[in-house]
Amino acid sequence: MDLSSRLIDAKNVPQFDDSADVLIIGYGIAGACAALEARRAGGDVLVVERASAGGGSSALSSGLFYLGGGTEVQKAVGYDDDPENMYRYMIASMGAEQADKVRRYCDDNVDHFNWLEAQGVPFERSYYPHKAVYILSSEGLMSTGNEKVWPYRDIARPVPRGHQVAMEGESPGAGAMTPLLARCEQEGVRASYDSIATALIRDEDGRIIGCAVRQTGQTRYYQARRGVIVTTGGFGMNKDMLAEYFPDLPASAEPLGTPYTDGSGILLGLAAGADTQGMDGMIATAAIYPPQQLIKGIIVNAFGQRFVAEDSYHGRTAGFTSEQPGGRAYLIVDSEIFAYPENPYAKHQLIDGFETVEEMEARLELPEGALVKTLATYNADCAAGKDSLFQKHPDWLKQLDQGPWAAFDISFDRSTYLYITLGGLKVSSDAQVLNPQGKVIPGFYAAGACTAHIPKDGKSYNSGMSLGPGSYFGRVAGRAAMGNL
Ligand SMILES: Cc1cc2nc3c(=O)[nH]c(=O)nc-3n(C[C@H](O)[C@H](O)[C@H](O)COP(=O)(O)OP(=O)(O)OC[C@H]3O[C@@H](n4cnc5c(N)ncnc54)[C@H](O)[C@@H]3O)c2cc1C
Repeated sequence: MDLSSRLIDAKNVPQFDDSADVLIIGYGIAGACAALEARRAGGDVLVVERASAGGGSSALSSGLFYLGGGTEVQKAVGYDDDPENMYRYMIASMGAEQADKVRRYCDDNVDHFNWLEAQGVPFERSYYPHKAVYILSSEGLMSTGNEKVWPYRDIARPVPRGHQVAMEGESPGAGAMTPLLARCEQEGVRASYDSIATALIRDEDGRIIGCAVRQTGQTRYYQARRGVIVTTGGFGMNKDMLAEYFPDLPASAEPLGTPYTDGSGILLGLAAGADTQGMDGMIATAAIYPPQQLIKGIIVNAFGQRFVAEDSYHGRTAGFTSEQPGGRAYLIVDSEIFAYPENPYAKHQLIDGFETVEEMEARLELPEGALVKTLATYNADCAAGKDSLFQKHPDWLKQLDQGPWAAFDISFDRSTYLYITLGGLKVSSDAQVLNPQGKVIPGFYAAGACTAHIPKDGKSYNSGMSLGPGSYFGRVAGRAAMGNL
């Protein structure tokens, strides 16, 4: 990929049309939070936004923030969490690659929650107790991760951490972006809309000192006296990048986000010599629930074998599904728990109902005897109250012995898996963009979905791990650019 047009040598800039202390590219949640902090640190802040208004994918989102450590919402509904507990869970489930960021995030989480509320982002003191991908009501807390899934429940005290913005309907993310953008405006953050950042500007010392912006019919050059912060979101809409990093992505999978979620900030960063991290990571999802009774079924692959604890969070189940031979996976239920999956996006197809397990096995073209054996083992485990393979929580164990049985096709290329990308620019825990040698690129910061998420794949992702760290590290970037950490 030729990236040369995305980096301009300062000496080739004809003139600067505007300047600010901090230049922010992208006005989603990371950009808005960066802008507020940079402004409050005394900076003149200019946000460059490609759309005609701020919001980005953040405003379209389900408004779930992964927050914990003992927030007011957790306390009000009776959950006892603390930063160490949250850290233990996150490291165990997401890995230690970005341990410095996890530490910082967990230690500051209660403060960050309080900060969000102080900006007018509302969270109800109420709890949604069921398994769901998203909810249309306004409860402030729900479980959005694998905290109760083995082995994590043995490593850290399981508590829910999905904090949902108090707004009913499909896009509570707007309930966060509306007050944040209003605050930015009230406090004098300047914005240049309908403006596409097309190149970064680098001076002779290697410092990023501005960007070129395409507006209708003209190119303008903006200067940043203290720093440039890129907050342009993920790359789910960029076909070339998808082909490079996810060559096996089925055509039926659909990206989530605005059309501008096209990785442009990542490409700007690469042109400026940045390193990337976790580019082959995504969270794809096509949950089998609601209704949650389906979690009592089993999921098998083309060998008729179980491969995941079915009570896993939906992204984890999908992550394992995508790794099965041919992406094949079937949800098997008996008549006692039969229901159609209600998730309207997933489009899981009922294959058929069957009087015997042998008949079902033949129709699914599984090896002879495989499903019969899997079900016999599973039913024996349920009778004994312990899933010997994956330690599925006893709450979800039920013998599947009440025929007739039914199978749903939940294969990775047959159902519709919705996804967001998780990889991006490699940054320090101070939101400074790093080069492949691990050195900071001076004047260059990034946050949000254009940087590598802490969870590197769907198996470890928890809903809210984009808005939560995106808002937090956006704030860090804003302060860092002003030299005010
Ligand atoms: C339907 C849906 C539901 C979701 N639900 C959740 C959820 O509940 N919790 C969660 O954590 N995550 C969720 N996500 C993912 C999450 O919304 C995003 O990952 C997150 O909002 C990214 O925030 P951001 O600030 O990094 O980027 P964005 O919010 O996407 O903002 C980036 C901004 O940059 C602008 N931009 C891009 N390129 C340029 C350029 N070259 N020049 C100028 N401007 C540019 C864009 O127009 C956009 O306004 C959801 C996503 C969708 C679509």
